[in-house]
Amino acid sequence: MPEKAARCLGTMFQRISIAINAEKDRLSELDGAIGDADHGITMSLGFMAVNAELAKLDLAQVSPSEIFSTAASAFLDAVGASTGPLYATAFRRASQALKADESLSPACQAMIIDEMRAGIQQRGKGQRGDKTMLDAWIPAAEAAIEAQARSRDVIAMWNSIVDAAEAGANSTSSMVAARGRAARLGERSLGHIDPGAASAVIILRAMRDTFEAGMVDG
Ligand SMILES: [Mg+2]
Repeated sequence: MPEKAARCLGTMFQRISIAINAEKDRLSELDGAIGDADHGITMSLGFMAVNAELAKLDLAQVSPSEIFSTAASAFLDAVGASTGPLYATAFRRASQALKADESLSPACQAMIIDEMRAGIQQRGKGQRGDKTMLDAWIPAAEAAIEAQARSRDVIAMWNSIVDAAEAGANSTSSMVAARGRAARLGERSLGHIDPGAASAVIILRAMRDTFEAGMVDG
């Protein structure tokens, strides 16, 4: 299973990169409304760098944990500012947690989401309501834990994760930014969805598509 799991995660990072790249302009437009209009470009460069590094690995030989640690280093190298350390910490925490469970079972998938949430929160020191990517990641992680507690199947779990992330991201348009560059705008940040929350939804959708497809393939 670890071999197959590593391939699954390689596919996941490819899907994330493709999805982010497809919405790069929209993300930069969202960032332009409240920030410096580079979010689409930086996220796109970050995930391209991740995939370039993953392409150097033999996925038959590496563990799922190593996939995430490689992603962490590559993302941090490519994206120095703000978002870089947040996702690097998210991937590093997922990598650590995967050392104990590399199965990529539904419970393990839920753990990855919650560890990523914890990493972003640990690094950014943010809370829900700050108008950041955590407004998508916190409800997504809660939905994952809830789905596990209720023994939901993989498809139901991922649909609830993505629904929660989308609702959370949409809710940022009625928030005043408390952190990051947008906080300087104060009330002028009202009416705009946070670009980091929007890209979090794209990432989570790509993860859902990967793990649902993995289920169908057995
Ligand atoms: Mg920016």
